Amino acid sequence: MKKHVLGFTFLSVGMVLAACNDGGDDTGGTTDETEGTIDVVATIGQIGEPLSVIAGDLANVETLMGPGVDPHVYEASQSDIRLFQEADIIFYNGLHLEAQLTDVFNSVDSNAYAIGETVDTGNLLEDEEEAGMDDPHIWFDVVLWEQALDSAVEELKELLPDHADELEENKQAYFDELADLHTYATDTIAQIPEEQRILVTAHDAFQYFGEMNDIEVMGIQGLSTESEAGISDIQSTIDTIVEKEVPAVFVESSVNDSTVQAVIEGAEQAGHSIELGGELFSDAMGEEGTEEGTYIGMYRHNVDTIHSALTASE
Ligand SMILES: [Zn+2]
Repeated sequence: MKKHVLGFTFLSVGMVLAACNDGGDDTGGTTDETEGTIDVVATIGQIGEPLSVIAGDLANVETLMGPGVDPHVYEASQSDIRLFQEADIIFYNGLHLEAQLTDVFNSVDSNAYAIGETVDTGNLLEDEEEAGMDDPHIWFDVVLWEQALDSAVEELKELLPDHADELEENKQAYFDELADLHTYATDTIAQIPEEQRILVTAHDAFQYFGEMNDIEVMGIQGLSTESEAGISDIQSTIDTIVEKEVPAVFVESSVNDSTVQAVIEGAEQAGHSIELGGELFSDAMGEEGTEEGTYIGMYRHNVDTIHSALTASE
């Protein structure tokens, strides 16, 4: 079993951590700018880490939200706003993920680019609870995420025209790894017995994961964590779990785990014993410097955790 970092990652803690990360190297200002180097800000790790791999030494990529930070409710600090103004470009997901930041990008003098809003809209899933709204968690569809990252790399090429070939080469190498990830994920999830292929998590971040990997998904909370789960959400989840004899449910690193605990207790009271399957990375990735601190690593962690908990014999 994986160790659990249970949900007490309140926003303020996350913001302090994010602020501390700012001082982690010598990129805190623009004074040490070297030729050919641009300052890039990414809101979430799923954007920042792949771009730092692709850009290498060509860009300083700073990720705003660290481990455990929830992008749905993240608000910009004064130092964030300075960062936005100084950045050559800001990449964010968009589709209403960073709901509190969009106005800030518009109101300060910044060059912000929503990579999630560049993908084929025909491939976007709808928010099941709010008609007309798109589900923003597109990084869980590896193909869609490749499209989104591709558009970011095109922007980088415009900022670094002398290095366009190098960026293109690095991107292709990274996309080869994404193709391997895609195969690994679908193959691994397919090994779960079909009747146990149901993924219950704290909030509805895994719809694209479900589509890509052919697994039914259920979030106790809706697409955004901005509003809390109600009693009826919890009860209907319990009913489904008991009815379908779901063996395990999962907590998420950026979402309070209380609703998941309530579901486990409720299922047990209804006579169905259910396991905590482990912690998944949904809207935030793991610690920098660990496997789970990379996009590919956190995706594989999720796949392995889900596979192991849902195939375990009772
Ligand atoms: Zn989310």
